[in-house]
Amino acid sequence: ATPTSVMVGTGRAAGLGILFRSGAALEALHRADVIALDKTGTLTLGRPELTDLILTGPQDRAAALTLIAAAERGSEHPVAQAIVNAARADGLTLPDAQDFRALPGEGIEATVNGRRVQVGSDRLMTRLGLDVTDLQARTDALADLGRTPLYAAVDGQPVAALAVADPIRPGSLEAVQFMQASGRQVVMITGDHARTAHAVARQLGVTDVRAEVHPAQKSAAVKELQADGRRVAFVGDGINDAPALAQADVGVAIGTGTDVAAETAGVILMSGDLRGVPNAVALSRATLNNIR
Ligand code: ADP
Ligand code: MG
Repeated sequence: ATPTSVMVGTGRAAGLGILFRSGAALEALHRADVIALDKTGTLTLGRPELTDLILTGPQDRAAALTLIAAAERGSEHPVAQAIVNAARADGLTLPDAQDFRALPGEGIEATVNGRRVQVGSDRLMTRLGLDVTDLQARTDALADLGRTPLYAAVDGQPVAALAVADPIRPGSLEAVQFMQASGRQVVMITGDHARTAHAVARQLGVTDVRAEVHPAQKSAAVKELQADGRRVAFVGDGINDAPALAQADVGVAIGTGTDVAAETAGVILMSGDLRGVPNAVALSRATLNNIR
């Protein structure tokens, strides 16, 4: 009866857009004590928009945005897309950039029109020895609204603060509530600014937040949650997430995801709706109860 039951369970799952890649994934999800979720692109849509551009001096907004967006064009990060889209919406023509460099978990740098442009987090600015404390009161207020604060420097001088907003996915709040109601610990893991992460977490009723986690440290954050033999499911959209998906007792990839995520995950949610997680948990329980 065992194989039939698993097939029935997974057949019903397919109807809900949930793909179990193995019986082991089904079992591991059923037994998970902790559900850890990536923020950007998982709890949120992963399609941020530029909401704020604060200039430090009397420069021209168009000139500043042109330099910043041209530098960002080499980046695949959703933040970069938000900035480039805003420049396009303003009708700006973006010159080619040279010597582009992605600084993972921090930002980017590139040369545009002979000027060195650096864009990224407050931590990047600190590492570059740039003082942005004059902008901090305003960026803290934006971060408390759940927006991601960024800074831009040109030729080693801070020129602007920016903020991007990434809406919460419909279904995320309900999914978190279902998972918490089942007695599981729900944790957010993100590379984003701590204030931003806490503001988004508050809107979702998540109290356990690991923020400003470097991409290379996300799997270590999962490992930490696995202390004392606790079983962890990690839910991510796959951008930067493959090591964390692999480290978890079961990896859940949301959306069409990336190929990397689909390969590493034990469960794939085709719908891009996080309510697929509690649905998959319920289904795994029902299926395994059927077998035993
Ligand atoms: P996550 O995917 O969890 O949001 P990342 O580790 O990719 O986090 O990025 C962490 C932070 O690094 C971002 O919140 C942002 O401040 C900065 N960052 C990353 N990429 C860029 C970029 N292309 N432009 C500006 N800032 C960036
Ligand atoms: Mg993500």
